[in-house]
Order: sequence, then structure tokens, then C-alpha cells
Amino acid sequence: MPVRSVNDATVSAPISAVSGRLPVVVVGAGLAGLVCASALHEVGQPVLVLERADEVGGRVRTRRHPEGFLLDRGFQVLLDAYPAARRWIDHPALRPLPFDAGVWIWSGRRLLPLVDPVRHPESIVRDVTAPLFGLDDKARLVKYALAARRADWQSAAEAGSGEMAGVTAVEALRAAGFSPAFIERFARPFWGGITLDPELRQSAGPMLFTLKMLVQGRAVLPAEGVGAMPRHLAQRLPLESLRIGVTVDDLACEGGSVRGVRVGGETIAAAAVVVATDPPEARRLTGVTSLPDASAGLGSLTVYLTGERDPRLGRRLALDGTGQLTLDHLADLSAVQPNYAPPGRRLLAATILGDALAGGDSALADRTRRGVATMLGHDLADWQVLDVVRVPFSQFAQPPGIYERRPTNTTGQAGLYLATEATVDSSYNGAILSGEAAARAVLRDQARANQRKRRR
Ligand SMILES: Cc1cc2nc3c(=O)[nH]c(=O)nc-3n(C[C@H](O)[C@H](O)[C@H](O)COP(=O)(O)OP(=O)(O)OC[C@H]3O[C@@H](n4cnc5c(N)ncnc54)[C@H](O)[C@@H]3O)c2cc1C
Repeated sequence: MPVRSVNDATVSAPISAVSGRLPVVVVGAGLAGLVCASALHEVGQPVLVLERADEVGGRVRTRRHPEGFLLDRGFQVLLDAYPAARRWIDHPALRPLPFDAGVWIWSGRRLLPLVDPVRHPESIVRDVTAPLFGLDDKARLVKYALAARRADWQSAAEAGSGEMAGVTAVEALRAAGFSPAFIERFARPFWGGITLDPELRQSAGPMLFTLKMLVQGRAVLPAEGVGAMPRHLAQRLPLESLRIGVTVDDLACEGGSVRGVRVGGETIAAAAVVVATDPPEARRLTGVTSLPDASAGLGSLTVYLTGERDPRLGRRLALDGTGQLTLDHLADLSAVQPNYAPPGRRLLAATILGDALAGGDSALADRTRRGVATMLGHDLADWQVLDVVRVPFSQFAQPPGIYERRPTNTTGQAGLYLATEATVDSSYNGAILSGEAAARAVLRDQARANQRKRRR
């Protein structure tokens, strides 16, 4: 099939006309696609990013509610020690504010404090009065956290490889000697909340890596919501390099090589195509079967609640240590980042995961509201549901061994590359690492092709 440049109003591609070179087309403007496109642009390679949604960010977006609240696309946090994020995201420009290095744990009767024993070793003695689990577990947690801090992992995938390749999070905790009470009351809701699996059956990698990140840095919320991260990244690109509201239907192939993409019956010619969509869509477009399909998605549902009463959680996450409430964890986002709520109002985010996700959104929101009132010891009338955000494919499942089976950034088909969390691990850090690696792969292949041309 012949390939031609499109030049209509919807998807005109002036980039190739301006530079005289075909652009690398990047399909998808999530973190992975934006980093890949920025890395290519910064070395002078023309790029064209095509994004299906009406804004950049993919899963990392924030919308402003008409009443002035900032609602992220589900409860999410930036771990400010993520090494890849530090290379690409100007942290001070985000005006981030941190969560406390500690949590509340709902015991079924009251909220009990658990403070990060590495940052606050004195708390070990003080917490002896909090009957959650024994002091030996707290001492073990200090040792475990210090070992994680010493490790030189750059990603959850690295932490979950080698000797940890076949180990689930819960197996790793048991092997380290943690008690069933520690696992049930703290690890299950805490790391279950991070890996979206309260059973802790995912690889130990994300648990170990996030522990390292939390010891080295903080969990933070940007002043304009997590969506500020991709918006800042997009500003690195020339305006004409980014088209939003454009869905790529298919790849355009010629002579076994990928030569462009098809959009609404037209073909956009490309020097190379980087597929940076969510994993199931990347699998559909590329046919790479080692990419997770929709059935490998782990979902989440965030119920945003508002009221005027101080829930007295401060900047700490509250975990359901009983497993009895519908919600896994609760945060007062307006206490962490006051910008998230208009003056005088509070914004709480309650997150539901795993088996508890079964059921309709409004019934779940109702049960969650009751759970929140119970946890806080408040009247039901104190908290109103503002919004419910369900993301069926929030992360892909990362069972033990998955990092050995990951696809690479190259696909075996000339001209076709992948930039997606699925080549590393399911996180901002994984998505950014993948974007960097995809850009390197494109440039390496271009350099080789140029060398071959010169030899001829
Ligand atoms: C509720 C929730 C909480 C999370 N919490 C955290 C957290 O706290 N910390 C953390 O590190 N990670 C978290 N994650 C995971 C993290 O958001 C993802 O791992 C990461 O954002 C994936 O980025 P990506 O660029 O690979 O994919 P995506 O963000 O999915 O981007 C893919 C883009 O491709 C576009 N696209 C798809 N198909 C097409 C097409 N045919 N044509 C054009 N464009 C297309 C999509 O619209 C999208 O913009 C969370 C995710 C969710 C949903």
C-alpha cells in the first residue's frame, strides 16, 4: 500500500514539510510517549505525537471540578525519589507538598498511628502503646527499609528480578519474618494500595522498590494535581508536534516495514512509529502478544468525598487494617495539598481495590461513604460524594516472573517501537524509563541505517 503524507485540516503534518525530514510518529501522549518524543526532539529528530484523548497524560490526568476541586484520575501520588522522574520532571516547578512519613491504621475501634520508624526511630518506643503488632515487627521494618535503601535498583522491575523473580510480596514479607498481624493490618492495605492487589500476590519488586523510594524521598501531590507532570513534559515539545483528539486506527506497512500510521482513512508517513498507548491497545496495534491484554488489568475505584469537618487525619494516609470496610485506604488530599479544595471545604479520596470492586459505582460509593464515616467517627451527613472515578486498567498485573517475560522496546518489525510501562513496570518511573529506552532504540537504528547508507 503506498504511503503518503496527510495534509488535511485534521491531521496535517507540517513538521516534515518544515524540516524536510519525516517525523517519528509517537502514538499516545501518556508519560512514556511524551518522554520518548521529548528525548527525540531534544536531539533534533522531528516528532509528531498523536493522542486520542482531548488532553495529554493518559492515566495521569487531573480535572477541575466546577466547584473548584482538583480531581486526579483516581488516587495517585508521585514518589519524588523516582530516579527516572527526577531526570524529566522539574519537581520544584510542580510546587509539590508531601504526605507524612506515617499512616493511621483502622483497628475496628479507632485509628492508631504508625510512624515511619526510619525517619522517626523514637516512635518505636512510643508506638508500643499502639497495639497493632509487636515491636519486633517494627524493628524488622527498620532493617528491611534500610536494606531496600542500600539496594541500587532503578525500578520495581529490577527489584523484582534475580533472586526475587519468583517471589510474591506476601512471600517476601513472610520470609523476612513479619508476623501475620503486620501483614494483615499494615502491609495488605498499604502495599496492596500501591500494587492495587490487597492479596499481595504481585511480585515483591514493586513493594521493595516503593519501600526504597519512600525511605529516600516522599510521596507528594503537585499543586495543580498529578496531571501537571505530563502537561510540563508536553511543554518541551513544539506546538506543531502534538495533536490531541487524534486516534490512530492502524499501522501502515510497506515491504515488511512500518512506514506510518492510519488515521480516519488517511495515512501519515513516518520515519519510524513508536506505539506509546496503554498495553491492550499497543497489543492490538502491534500484534506483540507479550504485551498485557485487558484481562491483565488491575482496576481501582476512587470515591471523592467533600465536607467541611476536619477529619483529623492530617497529611497521613488512613488504612483499613480490618479488611472489613469497602475502602482500602483514605486520604485527606486537602490537608496534603490545600490547592485541591476550595477554601473551607475538604477533599477526601477513598480507594477501593481487588474483590471489593464488584458492584455498581453508586452502591460502592454509598458503602464507601459509610465506611469513611465509621473510620472517622463522624455522622454520615458530614461527608457527601463529589465524584466516583473507576479506572478498569489502572495498572497491569505484575505476578512473579513477569519481568522476565516483558516485551522490549523493539518489536522485531523494522520501523516499529514500543514506549509503554509494559516494557518496564507499572508506574510513572516504569513508563518514563520505557520512553527513554524507546528513544534510544530509534536513534540507534537510525545511526546504523545511516552508516549502512554511507558504506554503499
Ligand atoms: C488510579 C491510578 C493510580 C495510579 N497510581 C500510581 C502511583 O501512585 N504511582 C505511580 O508511579 N503510578 C501510578 N499509576 C500507574 C501509572 O499511572 C501508569 O503506570 C503510567 O501512567 C502509564 O503510562 P503510559 O504512558 O505507559 O500509558 P498511559 O498513561 O495509558 O498513556 C497511553 C496514552 O495513549 C493514548 N492512546 C491509546 N490508544 C490510542 C490510539 N489508538 N491513538 C492515539 N492515542 C491513543 C491514551 O489516550 C493515553 O493518553 C496509577 C494509575 C492509575 C490509573
